[in-house]
Amino acid sequence: MDIFSVLRQYFGYNSFRENQEEIIRHVIGGNDALVLMPTGGGKSICYQIPALTMSGIAIVISPLISLMKDQVETLRSNGIEAEALNSGNDPSIDTIIRRKCVAGQIKLLYISPEKLLAELDYLLPNLNISLFAIDEAHCISQWGHDFRPEYTQLGILRERFPNVPIMALTATADKITRHDIIEQLKLKNAREFVSSFDRPNLSLSVKRGYKNAEKMHFIQNFIKARPNDAGIIYCLSRKTTEKVAADLRKIGINAAAYHAGLSNLERSQTQEQFKNDQLLVVCATIAFGMGIDKSNVRWVIHFNMPKSIESFYQEIGRAGRDGAPADTVLFYSLADIIQLTEFARQSGQQEVNMGKLKRMQEYAESSVCRRRILLNYFSEQTDHDCGNCDICDNPPRRFDGTKYVQMALSAAKRTNEEIRVSTIVEILKGMRSPSVVRNGYDQLKTFGVGRDLSLNDWQDYLLQMLQMGFIEIAYNDGNKVKVTDIGNDVLFGRKTAELCVIDHSAKEEPKKKPKLRLEIPTITIPGLPPTTGVEDPKLFEALRQLRKVCAEEEGFPPYIVFSDKVLHSLATIKPTSLDQFGNVAGIGEHKKGKYGTRFVELIKKYV
Ligand code: ADP
Ligand code: ZN
Repeated sequence: MDIFSVLRQYFGYNSFRENQEEIIRHVIGGNDALVLMPTGGGKSICYQIPALTMSGIAIVISPLISLMKDQVETLRSNGIEAEALNSGNDPSIDTIIRRKCVAGQIKLLYISPEKLLAELDYLLPNLNISLFAIDEAHCISQWGHDFRPEYTQLGILRERFPNVPIMALTATADKITRHDIIEQLKLKNAREFVSSFDRPNLSLSVKRGYKNAEKMHFIQNFIKARPNDAGIIYCLSRKTTEKVAADLRKIGINAAAYHAGLSNLERSQTQEQFKNDQLLVVCATIAFGMGIDKSNVRWVIHFNMPKSIESFYQEIGRAGRDGAPADTVLFYSLADIIQLTEFARQSGQQEVNMGKLKRMQEYAESSVCRRRILLNYFSEQTDHDCGNCDICDNPPRRFDGTKYVQMALSAAKRTNEEIRVSTIVEILKGMRSPSVVRNGYDQLKTFGVGRDLSLNDWQDYLLQMLQMGFIEIAYNDGNKVKVTDIGNDVLFGRKTAELCVIDHSAKEEPKKKPKLRLEIPTITIPGLPPTTGVEDPKLFEALRQLRKVCAEEEGFPPYIVFSDKVLHSLATIKPTSLDQFGNVAGIGEHKKGKYGTRFVELIKKYV
């Protein structure tokens, strides 16, 4: 069967995405490849289609049991024979799987690196191996952020199987890591396929200077505007995850905490419930998400700022993997910067980590399209603004803030640059706090000169002054505020300073934005007008319910039955015959046969 027929029959898609076809042909031709694609970009098909068209069995090496389980379920749901060998299996099941592999009944075998090394002299020589696919290949590199020592031994595959093509796949690899992957796996003339890292379906927004109570207020409204959508709230500490989850539960939102301090049982329960849409909100540390392929995560909120753009991009990347619109919100405050700077300073690689944090801060503080900053970070240039970030939606307005900057800088100077941001604000506001009184700051000329502005606004302006380089924070000296050279220029009237107007409306109810229109691929279905483009939201809900019922019957997570994107397409195209149903993108032959009648019956009731 040619690769287009396989794509159509098993996966229900009519066209390949960027690079997929080239990668597939390259590997089928017997060559090695390094595939770099963002999360949700469509890596799996790049080895699954070669596995289906080549003779023999494809071996897929994957670091996480839960990921393997997801992949195997997805393949089976599309009518493809696949199995997984890992330490989670019962030995008697392993024996059956081994036998099926040897008998040639399986097209894809997922295996953990430990198990692979253990089977090197036993199972593997008895198989007709079509290709090796090494998923999450960045785990091989000490430079990557998820180093796994077992991965470093995978170089042996090239020696033992000199003629079997090897593909390495990853979503995160800078140049050093890529080089490392090719070298350690001993790939031969490997071609590197690098896809765009853009994820246009993810909206990007940043909320600056919110207090915890304000964050909670925002999050409540945000969730209430999306009552059926699953999302993740990433927090910096375990304590915060617990607190946020508890506060949400108090107002009737079903939320759970997830962090490395919980028992394995608690963690796996939370993960399962989340996958099955029984739990919609998880408040997590970075420990959460690595092992799940859940494609219908509709939003990700960062309660605190992450330590680098890599981490941030990976975490927001867990939203919208099905390609349907998804929202991301980052809260950003001075307290986060101070804490993260502390972490970076204490880490073994201070300089590198401080640099990464700085780049993350640039994203948070950007006054140009945020997507341009992200893409630029991954060495991709674009010539246009994205239209799906808060800066594009609402470009910041500026005013001549010289007067305010001078007030703040003079407070810093008059106290010999010995005080922190909070004390500067107290002086400006004329607050007799203990530290102000103790040090006699209430006698300063600057005391109270900034009464007219609110506390929050002063904090915001100071954050802006930090961004613009008028002040520095001495992280190694009690976080004291120091005036820089350009700060002095402003203070002494040699330069003016522009500040951004603070948008007070932003802290009010977050309205559900009119969502980015989902692109439903236009298809011409015999007997139906071309895609009308009008989705029936009630039908969507009904389809979602039916999907849940089917998922429960089969013990699969709902997103494995059909992605949200397929449901949106069905609610838009409204196919009323089996043939029409099977023409919708994402529905292959197997699913058409299995679910077609039930879904078509339901749709008929709505048209
Ligand atoms: P990754 O492993 O890169 O994170 P997946 O392989 O899980 O991504 O693919 C993400 C989503 O994109 C899946 O829902 C998949 O079915 C879909 N997809 C992959 N290739 C195509 C394609 N050619 N056309 C439409 N959808 C695709
Ligand atoms: Zn933008």
